Amino acid sequence: MEVFIRILKYLKPYKKTVYLLLFLMLMYVVLNLFSMAMLVPLIDVIFTDISAVTPQSTIAIDITKGNLKDQLTGWLYQTMNQYSKHDALMYVCIIIAIGFLLKNLTAYLQMYLNAAIEQGILRDLRNDVQRHLHKLSLHFFMARRKGHLISMVMNDVRLITESIMAILSTVFRDPPTIFVSVTILLIFNWKLTMIILLVTPIFGFIIGRIGNKLKKYSLRYQEKLAEITALMDETISGVRVIKAFKMEKHEIEKFETHTERLYKIFVKLSRIRSISSPLSEYLGILLAAIVLWFGGQGIIAKTSPMTAGQFIFYLTILLSMLQPIKIITQVYNSVREGTAAGERLFGILDINPRIVDSHDATVIKEFKHSIVFDNASFKYDTSDLVLKNINLQVSKSEIIAIVGPSGSGKSTFVDLIPRFYDPLEGSIKIDGIDLRNVTQDSLRDLMGIVTQETILFNDSVAANIGYGVKDVPHEKIIEAAKIANAHNFIENLSDGYKTMVGDRGVKLSGGERQRLAIARAVLKNPPILILDEATSSLDPESEMLVQEALERLMKNRTSFVIAHRFSTIQNADRVVVMEKGKIVQVGKYTDLVSADGLFKKLYNLQFRL
Ligand code: ADP
Repeated sequence: MEVFIRILKYLKPYKKTVYLLLFLMLMYVVLNLFSMAMLVPLIDVIFTDISAVTPQSTIAIDITKGNLKDQLTGWLYQTMNQYSKHDALMYVCIIIAIGFLLKNLTAYLQMYLNAAIEQGILRDLRNDVQRHLHKLSLHFFMARRKGHLISMVMNDVRLITESIMAILSTVFRDPPTIFVSVTILLIFNWKLTMIILLVTPIFGFIIGRIGNKLKKYSLRYQEKLAEITALMDETISGVRVIKAFKMEKHEIEKFETHTERLYKIFVKLSRIRSISSPLSEYLGILLAAIVLWFGGQGIIAKTSPMTAGQFIFYLTILLSMLQPIKIITQVYNSVREGTAAGERLFGILDINPRIVDSHDATVIKEFKHSIVFDNASFKYDTSDLVLKNINLQVSKSEIIAIVGPSGSGKSTFVDLIPRFYDPLEGSIKIDGIDLRNVTQDSLRDLMGIVTQETILFNDSVAANIGYGVKDVPHEKIIEAAKIANAHNFIENLSDGYKTMVGDRGVKLSGGERQRLAIARAVLKNPPILILDEATSSLDPESEMLVQEALERLMKNRTSFVIAHRFSTIQNADRVVVMEKGKIVQVGKYTDLVSADGLFKKLYNLQFRL
């Protein structure tokens, strides 16, 4: 229930439209009943002998006296009696025409407003999720599959919206219709109506059980759908590896087992979903048949308190209640499904970002003298200590190369500098201020990051270089590309700087992608650089071009370079050697080469000495 109330809060921005919608619904209810009420005079006054059925021709409307049913119908008869049958028929027809016109007009307006609200909520929910995701720190994304998140943004959000709309489009239409209808039925024949009312809790029980099952299967369905989206994402991203290892068959089989399970869950879900509405309709009809049998006998025997017209009206009202009852069961089911989806979605929206700016965080405008690691240790949620008591002081304009076996903690070490993670113990300070007391924006403004896996967006070359920099003139982009050794290859692309790079830059070679990423960093012109240089996939010519570009980029900047190439190490002011999360050696390249230790081993390995 709590979840559903929270879901309903998404209606708030559309308050005015919602009020209008609810008003239209009430109008609809009134017009609907009115159009049915026209049946009574139609049958009794026009098609039968009025005098035989008119209770008291002079009756006045006074709900405090006498029988309300007779008063209401009497008033109608009386009104109709003023006219000839011919005229009365004409008036009834005109009123029906106008009544139905208005009724359908309100129905049209409702549908139109519904769509605006529905799409608005869908948009708001999606934007909320996206906005929230951007607030969350890397921990969150490391622990989840991309496909799950995508599925949630697309599917859960849709289910939630559908449940809101289901409520909205019925709340003022169907429950009031039922309430008014029941009242009328009670007025017309309270004994018969009481019997009907006693039977309805049985309906409620059956429908409630269906709702519970529906929620269970709906949750399972959404989870399976999320898994399939994740799998799809992974197979598309990893298509090269799949082909290289000839794993297509295996992947297809894996996918098919998932789709098969999804199919089974969906069939089950549909079975439950589909049964509720025909079932409720059938139970209603059954009831109506019983009423017709007992009520009809009274009419035939002329012992009924109702006239034929009144009885037809009674039955019409009873039958017309079936549709709203059916809709309410559908709404109830939709709410169960929406709540299940809401639980998942709010589970994510309620996660607090771990990396937040403290309320008195400082905005740093420039990098003045140093970055200091002070006894910093770190672990991931699911790992042991990955960094242990790291102490290092880096002065402005120093180039620090970081080397070490894979898994020694190099990437984690550099991830702490832009505060992608906070150390578990100890601290990292920039110009003497703990990173936790600096705003993330101002900190990251000082940094350029070129990672091993160059992330390009499916946009033009120019937009990728200018990413993160506002209103950058084209000449600046060209200038940056030239420094990054990228200008020549860009000029040779089909559309030059306007060429689209494809998803994640697939249309470019590894070296080209790297040079674009370097151009991006050149353009940003940050005082601090973090590089994870990767050259293993590059041919010698690309490697040389990338290397040159990197050297130009690092000039006059404080750089942290995860070094794979010994040429970078030679240019570094100091080399930090890491092993199992610890710094085991720090020094100049020439000193480390001659000293006994891990660096010498790595050096020998690289040159196969
Ligand atoms: P390197 O860059 O030197 O190869 P990393 O910093 O990537 O090393 O990893 C250091 C250690 O942390 C490794 O043992 C790795 O398995 C672990 N690790 C890295 N990322 C995560 C993560 N998101 N969750 C849990 N453990 C991780």
